[in-house]
Amino acid sequence: MQQIRAAILADDLAAVGSLPVPTQYRGLVVRADEVGMFEGLSTKDKDPRKSLHVQDVPTPALGPGEALVAVMASAINYNTVWTSIFEPLPTFGFLRRYGKVSELTRRHDLPYHVVGSDLAGVVLRTGAGVNQYRAGDEVVAHCLAVELEDPAGHDDTMLDPEQRIWGFETNFGGLAELALVKSNQLMRKPAHLTWEESACPGLVNSTAYRQLVSTHGANMRQGDNVLIWGATGGLGSYATQLALHGGATPICVVSSPEKAELVRSMGAELVIDRAAEGYQFWKDERTQDPKEWQRFGKRIRQLTGGDDPDIVLEHPGRETFGASVYVARRGGTIVTCASTSGFIHEFDNRYLWMSLKRIIGSHFANYREASLANRLVDKAKIHPTLSRTYPLDAAATAANDVHHNLHQGKVGVLCLAPEEGLGVRDAETRDRHLTAINRFRDR
Ligand code: NAP
Repeated sequence: MQQIRAAILADDLAAVGSLPVPTQYRGLVVRADEVGMFEGLSTKDKDPRKSLHVQDVPTPALGPGEALVAVMASAINYNTVWTSIFEPLPTFGFLRRYGKVSELTRRHDLPYHVVGSDLAGVVLRTGAGVNQYRAGDEVVAHCLAVELEDPAGHDDTMLDPEQRIWGFETNFGGLAELALVKSNQLMRKPAHLTWEESACPGLVNSTAYRQLVSTHGANMRQGDNVLIWGATGGLGSYATQLALHGGATPICVVSSPEKAELVRSMGAELVIDRAAEGYQFWKDERTQDPKEWQRFGKRIRQLTGGDDPDIVLEHPGRETFGASVYVARRGGTIVTCASTSGFIHEFDNRYLWMSLKRIIGSHFANYREASLANRLVDKAKIHPTLSRTYPLDAAATAANDVHHNLHQGKVGVLCLAPEEGLGVRDAETRDRHLTAINRFRDR
């Protein structure tokens, strides 16, 4: 591994393909024999620092259509939080099911799960049938792993019955020194960004892109009012940028004055501090308070000059969904990709059908959508929202930060990169956008 790291750091990328592939590498794992460790604890008391371990694992054999990547940096996504607290289910069930698909996928069914759904790094080896990438290429990887043997997946790969999120529903993820991906997960690394900056937009930027911009999602138009929950979080920090860049008006919901200031610095003008304004959409565990939906809706109209949101970007789920359906405009769209606060939602259906609103389910993005989202980063139209990085050895602490909403934007992880700031190939573009690139740093 040292030789590979040294060659990359010396910019000797041509040498990478001829160096031996290490037989093992360090990765962040959960272990099958520990899935019961948090039984009886509440979600918030389940501590990722107890269940996530950095350990040596054997390098998997490379199959056709795949690439082994030397990972310079990765990022924490919320799915690693779910994996680490074994909620809603331990991910070993996903690995077992995937292992049954073919001889090749059996490699994934192991008593440990190397997690992580983002990476920036250098291709080490490619398998048979890989033509577009080769050893030495600097890449990022999106997290859609798809078999594509079924006709259902050929209009939109997210509809393939064998669609999985790499590093969550498959093994050999990106929070590691090496990762195994399908070659159709690879995209060019933006040249003006460091390793850790390029590793952080992938999953959330692509997801927000499909949710908001794509015709598979809300098909956002110029002038749309877009309500964005968690506007400084992973998804929200990209959704806010996509709305601003696409000529829409984000209405950013945050939970502190610091976060409000951060979204304002990005160019958002309409901001709601949900903590300061004290919205309580639920009176108790079973009863919602429509008066609070109304108060929230009035506040939105006050900010927009009387308009309701054309689009609501939903992910908090149970706590906010009733309000989201209520406040969307007549004919508007609620587009949801998650349920962080609970996946059984309740809303008043009269506000949906009588006002002809639509709820759209959205999940990650297909390769085309992910590459369009990556192009925006590559062209410095959308910027990374990296706030902090941790070394691989402390990745469990990084996951704990995200679990407890202690972070802003994205939390990065240095894997083979020994320090921050490496990997920039286009300093001129970087200099032009430095303020935006650094906006979330150390927040
Ligand atoms: P994140 O970085 O933790 O950001 C989420 C933000 O949402 C938080 O910062 C918080 O912001 C806000 N929030 C959390 N709970 C809330 C609540 N009860 N009410 C209102 N706002 C709340 O996480 P993320 O990366 O954006 O991911 C969010 C969710 O989407 C996770 O469940 C994740 O698994 C899911 N996700 C799904 C996909 C997919 O493809 N389906 C992709 C990415 C993420 P404030 O405290 O400032 O309000």
